[in-house]
Amino acid sequence: MPELPEVETVRRALELRIRGKRIVSTEVRHPHLRRTLDTNAISCVQGRSFEAFRRRGKYLILDLSGDVSLVVHLGMSGRLLLCSSAEVFDKHDHVRITMHGGCELRFRDPRRFGSIAVWSTSEVMDRPPLAGLGIEPLAREFTPSRLEELVSGLRRPIKLLLMDQSRLAGIGNIYANEILFEARLYPFVPAGLLQPREIRKLHAAIVQTLRRAVERGGTTIRDYSDPLGQPGWFRLELAVYQRAGEPCPRCGALIRLVRTSGRSTYFCPSCQAPPNGG
Ligand SMILES: [Zn+2]
Repeated sequence: MPELPEVETVRRALELRIRGKRIVSTEVRHPHLRRTLDTNAISCVQGRSFEAFRRRGKYLILDLSGDVSLVVHLGMSGRLLLCSSAEVFDKHDHVRITMHGGCELRFRDPRRFGSIAVWSTSEVMDRPPLAGLGIEPLAREFTPSRLEELVSGLRRPIKLLLMDQSRLAGIGNIYANEILFEARLYPFVPAGLLQPREIRKLHAAIVQTLRRAVERGGTTIRDYSDPLGQPGWFRLELAVYQRAGEPCPRCGALIRLVRTSGRSTYFCPSCQAPPNGG
């Protein structure tokens, strides 16, 4: 599932390639995703130009001229691909947006958990679910003391806090696992029990891991690619995610996998030992 680094990679690629381009036509081929696409709303982007490209958590916001924005969530397997109009359709290409000059932006999503909505640009950040998102972990305001406020008093495991979009926006299962390995923290420790020194380490691990992943173009596990079809190379740097039974890159102990409520948690039992051996 695309997380902050993948969505940011898509945002940057689109900004570089299609800023200023004018949309000449749209076609919704399959509106029936998990949430039905509004074909009429999508058609109202015709004649408008791409002006700005923003990201909030795992949401991508394509601002068009005239106070209209496309708000895209890639879901589990969604991709935004740039190609020529002549390119043959994939059966999972649900939406095509054709620009002046024959370049197309296509929304491809085999598992159909993604969504595209058309909102007024000025309201995007004030509408749910975007309005309810927590702090951006790569924003300047995200400091160790902000993280300390976020964990304070929480009995939930630290890994769940990292993935709670209403507190921190953009981190999912892949990066939560990698961040906790980087910070050498036991994933199931109650968040509120972290010591100030551990909170500082965790803060640094969040920022460094996400920055490095953005530099590598994100992580490709199954479907993800950038708009030009390139995979994310951070996959090669994953230390624990989907590496159960392999040696820890730091100490050689075998990576463990624990499944809780449908989520897979990977960690090194030696580098990330539970506090007090519990
Ligand atoms: Zn280890």
